[in-house]
Amino acid sequence: DTPLKRKPEWIRVKAPVSEGYHETRRIMRGLKLATVCEEAGCPNIGECWEKKHATMMIMGEICTRACAFCNVTTGRPAPLDPDEPAHVAEAVAALGLNHVVITSVDRDDLDDGGAGHFAAVIRRIRESSPGTTIEVLTPDFLRKDGALEQVIEARPDVFNHNLETVPSLYLEIRPGSRYFHSLRLLQRAKEVDPEMFTKSGLMVGLGETRNELLQVMDDLRSADVDFLTIGQYLQPTRKHAAVDRFVPPDEFAALERTAYAKGFLMVSASPLTRSSYHAGEDFERLRAA
Ligand code: SF4
Ligand code: SF4
Repeated sequence: DTPLKRKPEWIRVKAPVSEGYHETRRIMRGLKLATVCEEAGCPNIGECWEKKHATMMIMGEICTRACAFCNVTTGRPAPLDPDEPAHVAEAVAALGLNHVVITSVDRDDLDDGGAGHFAAVIRRIRESSPGTTIEVLTPDFLRKDGALEQVIEARPDVFNHNLETVPSLYLEIRPGSRYFHSLRLLQRAKEVDPEMFTKSGLMVGLGETRNELLQVMDDLRSADVDFLTIGQYLQPTRKHAAVDRFVPPDEFAALERTAYAKGFLMVSASPLTRSSYHAGEDFERLRAA
């Protein structure tokens, strides 16, 4: 076990007490939907849910992988819920979302890795909320031929897959995944639908070096990835990977400038940035520009 490091003063979060927070919670519970906001113990939940920005996590609450940074339970998942696409669509309408982020656990147990379910969710949201932009944050679909294409055919507006960390830390932090497979997934997504935006995210403070981060940015740009998020890794429990260091806000600002200089269309880098943090606002700003 690794004891948790004391958080610096720049990591301060808003308590989840607002009316919007409780309303979001009620809608999610009512439709039996899981959120990554809760499952990952996201520090932004008070702020996001106040605005009813919840990121739904589909395909159950049990994951077939065991990433060293992640608070989601590993094990054998339950069968898919055929009503889930309808429930997600209902939730999007009830929350009144202009932009929704849908993510999932990894489902290595399913032949298509859950790609068909993702596609069904996208289509149901389109039917009931045609004005809502849809962002999917998917698993890597390792060894699932044709899975990525199924998701892209359903035409999400943003395809997001997080590289999470630099290649040298994969074995320790993302043991079930392969850096170059994930990178290639992002590249292929763009090849299949060049009109669609692609996005990826990284955590810092896990022991990566600045040069490694810059290399990952270059790799992402050579895979034509449009958007990048960078946030501080926070250790969920004593059983998870330790925080190597807390990256100060000015270093995040420098990373953001560097990423823009490398050609990303949209970059968010701050201690509390998460893959879905302000995703809607950022996307709207980009479209208005
Ligand atoms: Fe949920 Fe993302 Fe907001 Fe965290 S940043 S509370 S995961 S929407
Ligand atoms: Fe968590 Fe995703 Fe890793 Fe599963 S694949 S353990 S949900 S980060």
